[in-house]
Amino acid sequence: MSRFVVQRHHATHLHYDFRLEMEGALRSWAVPKGPPTKPGIRRLAVEVDDHPVSYIDFEGDITEGLYGAGRFEIWDKGEYELQRKKPDQLTFALRGDRLQGEYTLAHTSARNWLLLKKKGGSSYNMVRRPIAEFP
Ligand code: MN
Repeated sequence: MSRFVVQRHHATHLHYDFRLEMEGALRSWAVPKGPPTKPGIRRLAVEVDDHPVSYIDFEGDITEGLYGAGRFEIWDKGEYELQRKKPDQLTFALRGDRLQGEYTLAHTSARNWLLLKKKGGSSYNMVRRPIAEFP
């Protein structure tokens, strides 16, 4: 089982950094509107550079002027099970506090991917904690 994290990043434009621990790094996407919590919603996820695994617990401020400036909060974290991995499509089951169930990341163009929650099919769909409203 590998880990994932979603960091809410108060940068110039608020976004959510979605990171999957994979092959010794954190593969990372910036999701402007946040990961979908319900099936049938697709969210743009822009792939960004891999981050070191040590970043998985990071919360705090990055000074203005530096890469990634702004405050980071951990919005969700947990484990995931990789179910399918192709160069242009990843399918995985998330077991976090807020995000649970099967998700797909599908490559569309350049660094753009779509993150979507699949319908049904998982025993990890139960929400254990209320989902915070997105701003
Ligand atoms: Mn970011």
